[in-house]
Parts: sequence; structure tokens; C-alpha cells
Amino acid sequence: MQILPGIFQLLTPFPNFTFDDARAIRRDLRDHPRVVKGLPYVLPYMVKDRGETVLVDCGWNTDSAYEALETGMREHGSHPTEIQRLVITHVHPDHYGMAGRLKRLSSCEVVIHEEDAKVITSRYFAPKGLADDMAKFMAMNGVPSLDTPSMAQGSMMMIDKVSPVPPDTEVKGGETFKVGGFDFEIIWTPGHSPGHICLYEPNRKILLTGDHILPTITPNVSIHAQTHGSPLGDYMRSLDLLADLDVEVVLPAHEYDITELKKRIIEIEEHHILRLDEMVNCVDRGGSTAWEVAGRVKWTTGMLTDFEPFMQRAAVGETLAHLEYLFEQGRLAKVMRGSNLHWLPA
Ligand SMILES: [Zn+2]
Ligand SMILES: [Zn+2]
Repeated sequence: MQILPGIFQLLTPFPNFTFDDARAIRRDLRDHPRVVKGLPYVLPYMVKDRGETVLVDCGWNTDSAYEALETGMREHGSHPTEIQRLVITHVHPDHYGMAGRLKRLSSCEVVIHEEDAKVITSRYFAPKGLADDMAKFMAMNGVPSLDTPSMAQGSMMMIDKVSPVPPDTEVKGGETFKVGGFDFEIIWTPGHSPGHICLYEPNRKILLTGDHILPTITPNVSIHAQTHGSPLGDYMRSLDLLADLDVEVVLPAHEYDITELKKRIIEIEEHHILRLDEMVNCVDRGGSTAWEVAGRVKWTTGMLTDFEPFMQRAAVGETLAHLEYLFEQGRLAKVMRGSNLHWLPA
């Protein structure tokens, strides 16, 4: 789908969706924008101008996602072999999964933020250590031991669908790159991922937001075994960073494009403020583990005990991001008791 002359929104399906089904959902959302559950597809963007071709994000490394990308690029007079530069908003498998395959096909320059480049090896090339660290990390946060192996395995299943490649160029944010007549500014927006970037084109007033800002979903901001600092604090600061940009079209990597950037930023901030208040109230006077707090939170998708192990892990990680941010704000304290981390009212 052409967004503006030279900018095209493509679509690649998630592994459990066919291209046709994912495309039908996208068309339906274009006609009836609304809240949707789950992620049927990723929206890569192709910038093709004056003989130059850049792709932003790609999709999972499945044959059907590749065929979808090829079909989409062909519809707009291009082909994956013509990609000169592949910019990855962050190294989650749905955005980065096909990067190695595209690199082999096109010899494109792969561009990734240095903070996300750091985790590629431990996450995709040598993930065994990460699974062990994750099991220990979950145990420390009170996740019952019976559940920890299956939770760690959850992340191993997706590695089959990623073709990793190290970046050719690592960026820090603040750089500008040209594609034909477009000037894209790279903005570092850590939170959902430590090296997440957004791309801003000030002349055309467009902002490619990756997973940082989505129309109805709030991206998962969580703490796991590899995390340093306070990702939710980073995320909230990264929202503020974009709030005053002059933007007419927001191009996210899921759901559908929107026009009102500031309104959406305020909605997301309000969601987290409410969630933070809820989390404080879920902490016992005597202290609670993240697992206990997560078990009391009213998740939009139901109760923690009914979730699949992979989603339980995500919920514990998200709970921890809120608890850590509350700690950063001085609203909670934390203490190790034996091998468990407990959170207490400050
Ligand atoms: Zn993501
Ligand atoms: Zn995503």
C-alpha cells in the first residue's frame, strides 16, 4: 500500500497466520480501525525513490513471510534482491527475523542501534546460556519451579524462525540518512527494547515508530535476565521525546497507521500511570515477589494462572518493569530474602 509517493507499507504474516488471512485483517482494520488482540502481521516499510531502495523491518524468517515480502515489493516495482539498506527498528524476531536471509539475497547494509546489536549473539547465535539465565531469573522472582523450564523453552521455540546477522552499521541515534529525496533522522527510543529506534522525516512529516507507538496496543516493556536499569522509565522518557514532533502520519509496525501522535502518546502514558498505581496496591506490606504481584494484576487477557507459560513469563517481566520504575520513583523498596527478590512499600 502506498502511503506517500516513494513510501510503501508492506505486510508479512506471523508464523501462525497465512498471508491471505493477515492481509484480510489489515484491510478490515483500514476500513474499521478498532482494538485488536494478538499480532497477525508486521508492517515493513519500503522507501523507494530515485533508484534507491531501503527497507525498514522485515518479518519472521518463514517462507510465507518471505513470499509476502516479495509479493509486496513486486506490487510496487521492486524485489528483495534490490534492497540496498535494511534498517531494523529493534531486534525482536518479528522485525529482525528475516534479516540474515535478506542480507544473503541482496548484500544490503544492515543498520541496527548499538544497544540492540549487543544482544544479538546471546539471543540468537548462542542462546543456550540465555535460557539458563532466564530460568534462574524467573526462580529469583518467585515463579514456581515447575513452570520455569517450560517458560525458558518458550523463547527457544522462536529461534528457529530467525535468520540472524550482525549489523554492518551500528547507530546511536541522531544520525540522518538519505534515500532519494527523503532525509530520515534516527531517534533512539529505548524502552520496548534497549536499542529501539524510530525514523523521522521532517519534510514529509512522517514518523516510523516500530513497536514504540502502536494505535491500540501498548508494547510490552519488561525486565528479563539481560536487562539493565529501568526500561519503563526509559520508555516513558522516549515517549516524551516524540510528543512535540511535527508529524502528520504515524507509521507503526503493527495494526494500522494513525494521524494523531500526541493524543496516542498521552493515552499510553495514562495507561502506565494507572497500571503503576494498581501495582503499588498489589504489593503486600510484608513484601511480595513479582510473581505474586503479577497474580493479582487484572490483565486485559485474564488471570495469570490461565496464561500459557510464555505469556506468564511476559507478564512477570512486565510487572518487574513497573516495580522497578516505582522503585526508581521512590514509591517502592526492594530486598533479597534468601534467593528471592521481594518488593515492599517504601
Ligand atoms: Zn517488539
Ligand atoms: Zn513487533
